Amino acid sequence: RIAYVNGQYVAHSEAAVHVEDRGFQFADGVYEVCEVRQGQIIDLTRHLTRLDRSLSELKIASSMSRTALTLVVREVLRRNRVKNGIFYMQVTRGAARRDHFFPAADTPPTLVITAKSTDPSLMAKKYASGISVITVPENRWDRVDIKTVGLLPNVLAKQQARDAGAQDAIFVDRNGIVMEGASSNVWIVAADGTLVTRPAEHGILRGVTRTTLLDVTEILNFKVEEREFQMDELLAAREVFFTSATGSCVPIVAVDGKPIANGHPGTVSSSIRNAFFDVAEKTPI
Ligand code: PLP
Repeated sequence: RIAYVNGQYVAHSEAAVHVEDRGFQFADGVYEVCEVRQGQIIDLTRHLTRLDRSLSELKIASSMSRTALTLVVREVLRRNRVKNGIFYMQVTRGAARRDHFFPAADTPPTLVITAKSTDPSLMAKKYASGISVITVPENRWDRVDIKTVGLLPNVLAKQQARDAGAQDAIFVDRNGIVMEGASSNVWIVAADGTLVTRPAEHGILRGVTRTTLLDVTEILNFKVEEREFQMDELLAAREVFFTSATGSCVPIVAVDGKPIANGHPGTVSSSIRNAFFDVAEKTPI
C-alpha cells in the first residue's frame, strides 16, 4: 500500500508524521473519509466543501487547491488499485515545538491521504442482518459540527458498544434527545411512516451521506421531517438506520437490547440505499 504524506508517495508501512505534529499533540486537525464504489468517488465535491469548512472554522490554511487535491486523491487510489473501498484525508496545523498557541503563520499544514480496498460482500451482510447498537450519554464538546480528529468520546463509545456485544453507539443528550451515531447520522421511520432525522445546524456533524439521502428521499417522494426526536420515539419507530460515507445506509435492528419493530431491517432503508448510488455525485478515478 502507498500513502501520500506532505508531497510524497511513500510505502504505507513507512508513512509517518513528525512527533511534534499538532495532530498528534493536540488533535489539532480535521479529516474526511470518502467512499469509492465501482471505480467512482462518491460525493467528492460535498466532502471537499466540508473539508474547507472544517479548516476555516479552525483557521488552518488549506495546503492545496481543490483541483490539486483531487489529482492527489486519484493518484493515491490508482497506486493502491482501489475500485471499491475508501480513502482518508487528514490535514493538521503542521509540526511545531509543542505550544498551545498557533505556530508561526508560515508553518506548513500536514496533509496525509491513505486508501484501502474494502469487500462489498461484508457490507452486504450488514445490510441483510442489520446491526445492534447501544446508547451512551452525549459528552462531546459543542463543535462536533467540525470534523476534527479529536474523537476520544467516539472511540470510547464504540468500544463500550463492542464490550456490550453490540456493533455501534448512539449519543443521546440529557433530555433524551437522539444526537447521532459515533460515526454516523441517525434516521427513523416514525410510526406514521414519516422519515425523521435531526437538524444539522448544531450538535451533530452534517453528514454528506445525510445530505445526499435528503436528495434521494425527495426523488422517491418520501415524507421527511428534519426535527429533533427523543429516545421513546426511536424505540417505537418502524425503522431506525445510520447513514455514513462508509456504510451508506445501515439498518439498526436493536437498541440497548430492545428490538426495533420486528427486529429485522425494513424496506424504507433498503429502497433509499438502492437509489443512493444513482443519485450521488460520481467522480471517476
Ligand atoms: N457523524 C459523525 C460523528 C461521523 O463521524 C460521521 C462520519 O464519519 C457522520 C456523522 C456521517 O458523515 P458522512 O455521511 O459525511 O460520512
